[in-house]
Amino acid sequence: MNKVYLKRKISPRVANGHPWIFGNEIEKTHGDCKAADIVEVYSHDNKFMGSGYYNPQSQIMVRLLSRKKSDVINDRFFFDKINYCWEYRKRLGYTENCRLVFGEADSLPQLIIDKFNDYFVIQTLALGIDVWKPAIVNAIQKIFSPKGIYERNDVPVRELEGLPQQKGFLSVPFDTKIIINENGLKFHVDVENGQKTGYFLDQQDNRRAIQHIVKGADVLGAFTYTGTFEIHAAHYGAKSVLGLDISEQAVKQANENAKLNGMEGICRFETANAFDVLKQWGKEGKSYDVVMLDPPAFTKSRATIQKAITGYKEINLRGMKLVKPGGFLVTSSCTNLVQADLFLQIIEMAARDARRKLRQVVFQTQSADHPIIMAMENTHYLKFLIVQVE
Ligand code: SAH
Repeated sequence: MNKVYLKRKISPRVANGHPWIFGNEIEKTHGDCKAADIVEVYSHDNKFMGSGYYNPQSQIMVRLLSRKKSDVINDRFFFDKINYCWEYRKRLGYTENCRLVFGEADSLPQLIIDKFNDYFVIQTLALGIDVWKPAIVNAIQKIFSPKGIYERNDVPVRELEGLPQQKGFLSVPFDTKIIINENGLKFHVDVENGQKTGYFLDQQDNRRAIQHIVKGADVLGAFTYTGTFEIHAAHYGAKSVLGLDISEQAVKQANENAKLNGMEGICRFETANAFDVLKQWGKEGKSYDVVMLDPPAFTKSRATIQKAITGYKEINLRGMKLVKPGGFLVTSSCTNLVQADLFLQIIEMAARDARRKLRQVVFQTQSADHPIIMAMENTHYLKFLIVQVE
């Protein structure tokens, strides 16, 4: 077995449960360690730390898959892991749709599997997990007998691992525009051309949180993607709902989703840059009972975190100004670079600039099928806040 020995003076991160080992934390390797090989990791004083996959090309040279010496990393290992992930989701009440595997948070680093009823979308974002794709697909076949499996590996981060960007069927071909049920509503999911894996499952619990505040309300949603929050608003009794997204494709899909639920009379979607339109409407004195914002992560790197802070502050300021006194702002942030405390500070800064007083209604995180591991800050990424704006 190939072995990797860690340096004496490294942070206790790995010992404390984090699965990443950086190149500069490795003292030496034993054996012929090649990219994608499974290696055993030992501390400087020869204590077993776990086994994982190796890639000398990546800054994160080892990602641990197991902490148990007796675990053998083989096809059976992946079957058992994925089965365990499914048991966990079922236990939390997810039956039809869920993130079945959430990478590091499920001890399967860089593996994402989303389940949309009988269809599965997978991403293998590191070389060491990519080579196990056949075993992973086999496990899904065995556990679920699915109607289809699709690969959405058209993700730039794969290139850091020396992997190509690619997408396509991992099962017999199927119609990639599928329909899912969520909270009694129906949504088209385009697993081939939609954003990410086709649908944002991480907000599925949060969509229910708007139930009471939208009754009888005029609602404005921005960054709507396929209109999930907006169609929920209509379902929960909103008087009118307007949704905006910069992507024409998303707006088309959102309008189709409204139709699919018989909501096209209440709910409509338009293509727009939310930054421009919200600013303009603020100047014109337009107002809404509820404004909902779910912008993308404005940065991917800590070095440019200021960009994200400025973006969140600006859009929340513009959104807040459009809320009638006593109305509600529903706002999210999906980057782990802006942690919960900082997000609340940004919202507070926006409120100060807008000269509005905020009352917190709910503050929660991603849905429970995206587990948060306490020792891994970056597994805690979504912030979902509802405030009353006075
Ligand atoms: N709320 C959605 C997810 C939103 S993802 C859901 O739960 O499904 C963020 C969306 O913001 C994407 O659809 C993207 O197209 C859109 N977007 C990005 N920049 C934008 C801008 N400047 N104006 C409007 N929409 C934008």
